[in-house]
Amino acid sequence: MNWPSEQAEFRDAVRGWCSAHVPADWRSAQTGVPDEEFVRFQQDWFGELRRAGLAVPHWPAEWGGGLSVAQQVVLYQELAAADAPRLVLAFVAIHHAAATLLAAGTSEQRERHLPAILDGEIWVQGFSEPGAGSDLASLRTSARRDGDHYVIDGQKLWASGAAHADWCLLLARTDPAAPKRRGISYFLLDMRSPGIDVRPIRQATGESHFCELFLDDVAVPAANLIGAENDGWRVAGATLGAERGTTMLELAERLGNAGFRWLVEACRPLDDPVVADRLAQFETEIEGLRGLCRSVVEGSPGPADASVVKLVYSELLQRLMDFGTEVGGLATHTVLRKPASSGWESGAWALDFLGSWEWTIPGGTSEIQRTIVAERGLGLPRG
Ligand SMILES: Cc1cc2nc3c(=O)[nH]c(=O)nc-3n(C[C@H](O)[C@H](O)[C@H](O)COP(=O)(O)OP(=O)(O)OC[C@H]3O[C@@H](n4cnc5c(N)ncnc54)[C@H](O)[C@@H]3O)c2cc1C
Repeated sequence: MNWPSEQAEFRDAVRGWCSAHVPADWRSAQTGVPDEEFVRFQQDWFGELRRAGLAVPHWPAEWGGGLSVAQQVVLYQELAAADAPRLVLAFVAIHHAAATLLAAGTSEQRERHLPAILDGEIWVQGFSEPGAGSDLASLRTSARRDGDHYVIDGQKLWASGAAHADWCLLLARTDPAAPKRRGISYFLLDMRSPGIDVRPIRQATGESHFCELFLDDVAVPAANLIGAENDGWRVAGATLGAERGTTMLELAERLGNAGFRWLVEACRPLDDPVVADRLAQFETEIEGLRGLCRSVVEGSPGPADASVVKLVYSELLQRLMDFGTEVGGLATHTVLRKPASSGWESGAWALDFLGSWEWTIPGGTSEIQRTIVAERGLGLPRG
């Protein structure tokens, strides 16, 4: 399905731009590259999109965005169809950091960071800690006011992209005596501050996508507090809202285009009715997901709609990758390297299958999403 059809002119323009700008050989060129090369490539690609006005389509027009939801859908469809690399390294900056700054930042904070993000500033989200993942409000990293700055001590976990980040969205406890959610503050942390130790974590795919962060007497200027002191939990709502909202628009289109297209290729010659039946089922589910995503971003979503999208996307992705690995057979298990800039859609089925398991955890695990759907969506009693 090629919706939204009313955007034919915009689609032609994006298609033309893609055919002129998407680097034809990026998959082979990005396979097995060192980290610095991955970062350079991601920033170059971000620069290309930015020059075309396509890097941050969901931002307000005054900050360089302003595309309608329908145009964003078309853009993501065309990028996926052209097999363009995804902005995996800018993900937190353009979604989470921007949403937080726009919702709760001061004009100085916006002026300082939004243009810098467009210039390639990389961000990481420092929320999770040992013992504070699903139960995020239990976090123990502390921030103590000392004159015109705060002193931060603690540990963060699973911080995606931290090894390359310039800035961190950091939650820390400023009032240990207050009820859990009321004593947390939200900081913009310069990752070059003394006292930060970043340790990459190796994953099953062999990549080190995320890191532990150790914070030892790290000084953060009070001007980097975002929102009021002890009001960080409310501000974090803007960050998590972005995580469960606009980010899904592109991911669903990638799944519907690149992901499904490759699955069909893996299944050729398509003469097995059982396989054909599974493909038809996947296609139907993907179309449902795409419609759901668009209605969440475009309309006035119900209290659990974003959770439904996250749940459907992550579990559908897993099943699709599982099936690709299955039909690809043993051959898929011998591909041990994938293009660094590809995200899950690398075409290396077994690695993509391992990577797909990541998605049922961050931004709220599937169990947590189901609880939200049950309680907030269906109004079932709290268990
Ligand atoms: C790929 C990836 C990227 C990530 N990126 C970041 C990042 O950039 N920044 C960041 O701050 N964090 C990040 N995270 C961390 C992520 O947000 C947490 O892993 C997640 O919130 C789950 O927390 P946890 O790991 O502590 O698991 P736990 O909360 O300990 O959960 C363990 C299991 O128990 C279940 N469970 C827990 N509580 C309940 C409950 N009340 N009811 C039912 N079941 C429950 C969970 O669903 C899960 O299956 C990332 C994680 C992954 C996998």
